[in-house]
Amino acid sequence: MSLTKYAHMLVAVDFSAEAETLVARAAQLRDQCAARLSLLHVVEYLPMAYSGDLVLPEGFDLEQELLDVAARQMSALGERLGVEPGDRRVEIGNTGHTILRVAEDLGVDLILVGSHGRHGLAALLGSTARSVLNGARCDVLAVRVPEV
Ligand code: AMP
Repeated sequence: MSLTKYAHMLVAVDFSAEAETLVARAAQLRDQCAARLSLLHVVEYLPMAYSGDLVLPEGFDLEQELLDVAARQMSALGERLGVEPGDRRVEIGNTGHTILRVAEDLGVDLILVGSHGRHGLAALLGSTARSVLNGARCDVLAVRVPEV
């Protein structure tokens, strides 16, 4: 039986320490399939989650700050994996929905997610892996990532 060859894979990374296992698996599959690899990180900015005790300096744009930090992490990861700058994406929105939307936009044939990662508020709504599995129109590989 021959191995299914994927042409374009999307890996959703949360930049947690656990994500290393996922990233290593994605790079390995990319090489085996000679596939294109796209990276996605979603900044899930929920203004109401920060509005409580946090007092921000006048003019401080928290959303922009989160995007800047994510862009730096994405750039470092992309360099390390040899992913072209055009294939590195940082988006703002709901994580599950954004992964599905970007996967559709790019027409990928495989989405890779970790089956465990950072939770935060999203844990109350169900895991990212589950919502991606439920909504995806292509194959999904949920890579078991050990808790660090
Ligand atoms: P979780 O359901 O939050 O435990 O996350 C499981 C997996 O979903 C992670 O290993 C990532 O593959 C993906 N994921 C979670 N959060 C994000 C994020 N902010 N951006 C991109 N992918 C994410």
